Amino acid sequence: MHVWKFGGTSVGKPERMHSIRNLITSDDTRKIVVLSALSGTTNALLAIGESLKANDDGEANAKIDTLKAHYDSFINELYKSAEGKAAGQQVVENEFSFIRSLTGIKPFTVKQEKELVAEGELLSTQIFQAYLVEEGVTSALLPALEFMRIDADNEPEIHYTEEKLAEILPSHADTQIIVTQGFICRNPRGEVDNLKRGGSDYTASLIGGAIRAEEIQIWTDIDGMHNNDPRIVKNTFPVRELTFDEAAELAYFGAKILHPSTITPARMFGVPVRLKNTMEPSAPGTLIADRPGAPATSSEVFKAVAAKDGITALYIHSTRMLNAYGFLRRIFEIFEKYKTPVDMITTSEVSVSVTIDNTERIQEITDELNTFCTLEEPDFDQTIICIVGNFSADNQGVAVRVFNAMQNIPIRMISYGGTESNLSLLVHSRYKAEALNALNDGLFSV
Ligand code: ADP
Ligand code: ASP
Ligand code: MG
Repeated sequence: MHVWKFGGTSVGKPERMHSIRNLITSDDTRKIVVLSALSGTTNALLAIGESLKANDDGEANAKIDTLKAHYDSFINELYKSAEGKAAGQQVVENEFSFIRSLTGIKPFTVKQEKELVAEGELLSTQIFQAYLVEEGVTSALLPALEFMRIDADNEPEIHYTEEKLAEILPSHADTQIIVTQGFICRNPRGEVDNLKRGGSDYTASLIGGAIRAEEIQIWTDIDGMHNNDPRIVKNTFPVRELTFDEAAELAYFGAKILHPSTITPARMFGVPVRLKNTMEPSAPGTLIADRPGAPATSSEVFKAVAAKDGITALYIHSTRMLNAYGFLRRIFEIFEKYKTPVDMITTSEVSVSVTIDNTERIQEITDELNTFCTLEEPDFDQTIICIVGNFSADNQGVAVRVFNAMQNIPIRMISYGGTESNLSLLVHSRYKAEALNALNDGLFSV
């Protein structure tokens, strides 16, 4: 069985839904088809939520009207038959009457906001399922809320998904196409929740891992993982193959094509992930897998670059660190206590610099560090530039080429040697575009 995920732009226009109907029925592989919300919908729902939080029902209703009008014309174009249009209209009426009902709930809380934002995927999947029915494609719609769950730390419970799908799927054994929602899940309180922005990729990978799929395919609007951020750099090109480690680093460090955690379940169960372009299905895309016997890193020295914004750097000093052991443990226990992941670390004999991307608990963290260390002012608005490639110890000249490319850009931190496939640099976000372009010219131009 395959898991195929289609992102917002891939379902965002009626003609795109027509193409993905053709794509998913073009071979006889059984598929779980994971859909995102139509492009723009999640943002629109969040904007409605903002108006409701601000108690501006008038503004919220106006935004709901605009969104509803978009869906009315969408279904009008999507379906051919009167029955199809009526089925689509029913879905839209039901979901928008739920959305409308949220305007009456005061105060508008996080719980309601999560229910509101889940409507995007609930709409897209029901609209698509009704379209498959109209087209005579045998398919079933499985509610993701019945098998996707996160724990108290917001981590998906893949074993729960595995158990639930093992219960549910046998009753659909003869169904070739099974449609479900990306992104949405329940939390331990049974409420509607989600896997954070871009989370439909993660849903696909969690399902793929849970059912030990033959392959997970992420269908989007670009022909695979590019060697650099195509939104910022011209002349990027698709990378044909990546190892799980390489792809995980790129996704975690900002390659928007994949939700940061997508690779984890796929790697855990050895399920290959293929990135494909809905607009150009014949393009080979990118295959992410560990080939048996192949080295953990690839043959090219430089493979790709990605950048992650919103980083804060903390600079921790203590003369007590000199020749001491247990000091680093004390520091990292504090980050653990406040559930704050550390991304980059560099150390000298008397100091440690770390970066975090979640500053929610920064006050408590710095208060506790201050009890046994001296802290410099943190640097906000930093960007981690992650360079992925084959940096094995006997590969000479890697650092020289990176630093030559970066010669005009101030670097705040450098991390190299943590793995053989990653070199990370910290720069102020104002230098991000310049750094990505300079690295493209210095590392990839032929
Ligand atoms: P979807 O809606 O299908 O999930 P996304 O917008 O989340 O699509 O991801 C695809 C986009 O990711 C591309 O259009 C591209 O602009 C952006 N992107 C950023 N970095 C990369 C990269 N290294 N390779 C490919 N795409 C990237
Ligand atoms: N619709 C959600 C979002 O826009 C999830 C996704 O598209 O992956 O973030
Ligand atoms: Mg996405």
